[in-house]
Amino acid sequence: MLSTLIYRSQLAGSVSPEKLKALVERASIKNAKAEVTGILLYDGQHFFQVLEGSVENVHTVFQRISQDDRHFNLIELMRDYAPARRFGQAGMALFDLRDYQKHTVVEALLKRVTLTDERIRHDRVVKFLRSFVEGRDKETFIGIAPASEWTLTTPLTVSAVPPLQPAADQRCEFALQPIVDAANRRIVSCEALIRGLQGAPPADYFSQLPEGERYQADLHSKIYAFQLARHLGLREQTLSVNLLPMSLVMIDDAVEHLIQQIRQQGLRPEQVVVEVTEDEVISRFDAFQFAVRQLKAAGISLALDDFGAGFAGLSLLADFQPDKVKIDRKLIIDIHRSGPRQAIVLAILKCCQVLEITVIAEGVEKIEEWLWLEGAGVRYYQGFLFARPALNALPAVSWPARRP
Ligand code: C2E
Ligand code: MN
Ligand code: MN
Repeated sequence: MLSTLIYRSQLAGSVSPEKLKALVERASIKNAKAEVTGILLYDGQHFFQVLEGSVENVHTVFQRISQDDRHFNLIELMRDYAPARRFGQAGMALFDLRDYQKHTVVEALLKRVTLTDERIRHDRVVKFLRSFVEGRDKETFIGIAPASEWTLTTPLTVSAVPPLQPAADQRCEFALQPIVDAANRRIVSCEALIRGLQGAPPADYFSQLPEGERYQADLHSKIYAFQLARHLGLREQTLSVNLLPMSLVMIDDAVEHLIQQIRQQGLRPEQVVVEVTEDEVISRFDAFQFAVRQLKAAGISLALDDFGAGFAGLSLLADFQPDKVKIDRKLIIDIHRSGPRQAIVLAILKCCQVLEITVIAEGVEKIEEWLWLEGAGVRYYQGFLFARPALNALPAVSWPARRP
């Protein structure tokens, strides 16, 4: 099967036109053996390459290209399948945009395309090519500094407050993970993540509960999260707790009960954020709306968790606007290299900006992911890059810092 891959990258350092030509010719010979053909566009600063060939060979060639340190900021824009090659069997042609006048460059490029006129009009690859040549893709291009220019501060190993000792009859505990404003090195919130005994994962805790006790246990467990917040003396930061929306719907006076628990531990409702996931919200939307009204009336904020991982996506925001949206890790992973993820996250950011919804990027593990997200305008983060959850304690945070 014929597959196509498009990427875009930036030249590291400089290269003379002769050297570039020689480089492409050498690569072309290697690619020819694998029957990978296409075109390489260059504008003096950026590369834009279309690779066509079998799925496996395109993948292998692309792996090799990705590891080449003569370019950086490499972003995979498209992977698709097609009935025929766009550039015939012409090997890998180099197309230097600087050799053409602005008003003739598109025409010159289209002359190279070996598809029928009709196919050219509808072909996504051709549209991508035009967008690069006309400079339209610059609107969404976010260049980031090489990760090697950055390091992480070593967190202090000793916390000022010792971990909370859980009571003997307690059947669950909480781990805390900070949500940070990385640029200003501030912890803005702590998310309480439920754990079974000895720090067992949340799924273990919930699966050992009898079916009928799930919501009750979920709601009542929050007392331990609030206790932990009190123990740590949380004041400036908010405490984010996860709740199944049905825990608020199925249990009588759930919201009142929650508020009572909050006050008992010396916290204010304004300090508490309730996180709910997209799928849970849409499955019982009307019932959930009732709980939302009660929470908001009490001063508690709402965050939509794992946004983008569920079925609803942006359409959910048409009917329900939370205070915060947490973008799921599935969309964050390797965002600095993925054109589709970048496009989706930029759209979420734009939408949330217009609606004045705070955005948090979840599951940030790499400096590069953080750098790209900063460039896109994200301010709040949660992820192993900054801190892993700590059982019964607030973990210290590693902050990104420029290497001296
Ligand atoms: P969540 O609310 O999306 O919580 C974030 C999860 O992502 C946590 O897993 C956290 O450890 C993990 N995480 C954070 N940063 C990273 C990262 O950089 N990389 C990766 N790979 N993972 C990261 P955890 O603690 O296992 O929680 C899983 C889910 O369990 C939570 O997802 C939440 O939906 C649910 N949960 C946790 N506590 C409660 C609770 O009290 N009640 C209810 N109903 N659900 C809870
Ligand atoms: Mn959560
Ligand atoms: Mn989440």
